Amino acid sequence: MRASLLPSIPPMTGSPGTSYARREPADAPTRPAADLLVTGADVVTMDTGRRVIVDGAVAVRGQLIAMVGPAREVRAAFPGTPELDATGCVVTPGLVDAHQHTTGDPLIRSAIPDDLDSRASIFDWAVPVHAAHEPEDDEVSALLTAVEALRAGVTTIVEPGTVAHPMTVGAALRRAGIRATLGTWGWDVPGLPYALPVAEVLARQEAVVRAFPPVSAGGDGLVTGWVTLVGHDLASDELLTGAAALAEELDTGLTLHLAPSVDDRHAYARRSGRGPAEHLAAFGVLGPRLLLGHAVWMSEREIALLAETGTAVACCPWAYLRLGQGLTRAGRHVPFLRAGGRLALGCDAHNAGDRTDVLAAARLLAGLSRDAPVDGATPLLAGEAFALATVAGAQAIGLGGLTGALVEGMQADLVVFRTDDPAWVPLGDHARQLVWNAPTHTVRDVLVAGRHVVRDGRVTTVDEAGLWAWARERAAALLARAGIAIPRSWPLVAQA
Ligand SMILES: [Zn+2]
Repeated sequence: MRASLLPSIPPMTGSPGTSYARREPADAPTRPAADLLVTGADVVTMDTGRRVIVDGAVAVRGQLIAMVGPAREVRAAFPGTPELDATGCVVTPGLVDAHQHTTGDPLIRSAIPDDLDSRASIFDWAVPVHAAHEPEDDEVSALLTAVEALRAGVTTIVEPGTVAHPMTVGAALRRAGIRATLGTWGWDVPGLPYALPVAEVLARQEAVVRAFPPVSAGGDGLVTGWVTLVGHDLASDELLTGAAALAEELDTGLTLHLAPSVDDRHAYARRSGRGPAEHLAAFGVLGPRLLLGHAVWMSEREIALLAETGTAVACCPWAYLRLGQGLTRAGRHVPFLRAGGRLALGCDAHNAGDRTDVLAAARLLAGLSRDAPVDGATPLLAGEAFALATVAGAQAIGLGGLTGALVEGMQADLVVFRTDDPAWVPLGDHARQLVWNAPTHTVRDVLVAGRHVVRDGRVTTVDEAGLWAWARERAAALLARAGIAIPRSWPLVAQA
């Protein structure tokens, strides 16, 4: 639907095997030509040495980074290559949002009252709204989320699987040009709406992974199917172990929600007398393929278990504060990191965290770690918090070889921040500037897989004004179908 809103998409450009005309200067190493040089910026590489290259450049060939270095050297290696002038700017790796719902909430953002308990917000809002969702609502929601994320410098999102129409959503994310992992709804608890038998849940999961295969199965790494259970206490042991086995068999990731609030602790205590992560460990579900959304209410022993097994965690600090779930009382994400845990940041949903702003999440977690250090863990430094938003976040979601750092051979996912803004003047330390100022509003350009998807702050892949109009129209129709009127904090006074 609405294909006319969307500019046609050029084919994915290049690949490591693409042949290019070779040039052979007498005394320079021979390199295939590049397509674009991003030049003149301070390049925050997030490589192993965490180098910041002043007056640096990044050469892009097809989807990949061909060279990172001083602008003078990069120009000499690729003479005559078109340039994106980033003089005076700061270039960083694209940001990683490891828990970002793309459907459901985007069309009802700021609509749900903030004094509801979780039961009312599920049964008065989430259930009727999801029940009224049509495929087109999923499509416009996914585009809206992708556009918002890209404009905030986010180049990779993990969609945690609350998607009813995954093929539609996958196509929309691909069209927007954001890197994403994607799954679909899955639970098997009898009596819940949409619960299915284990075999059917797993078949639906497998269909998404087959449609968007991982790189090892021939996928291009842009949109990749994952096995995604809603999690919480909504999966039987058979479904949990089946999902872990399926992710192993398909060589892809597995994600589920666990313990954002204390409710899951109580549920697992009733179910097996164990903590939630202890329960997963008992069934062999923990491990490097698993990304847990949240893991706020974990015991010290469970934190050790998660770290030992290489299980990754996506922490969405704004969501826990927005929903009052207890991060400052119970959250052990920094101790988990200090124990060698694979930690990433997420922005969750449009009524739980609300903004797809990973730098804001980094700033909040760093600040809370200074103010309320659970277990006395050493607070997060800005450089560490920015790593969670980039290279460490990418490693946590299993994409560490692909994205999260500006290193030759990795995917060309990068952000150009303009610095002609008070948030950047004067520029002190790059890490502290990026985290404590969270200058998301200064994102000027974004490349994903070498594709220029944000130019001068606007997304190039989608007609933005058309998308806003479409989203407003779909949101009004969705609320009408769900039979919901937005409760107002203040009376609206309409013109007579
Ligand atoms: Zn979630």
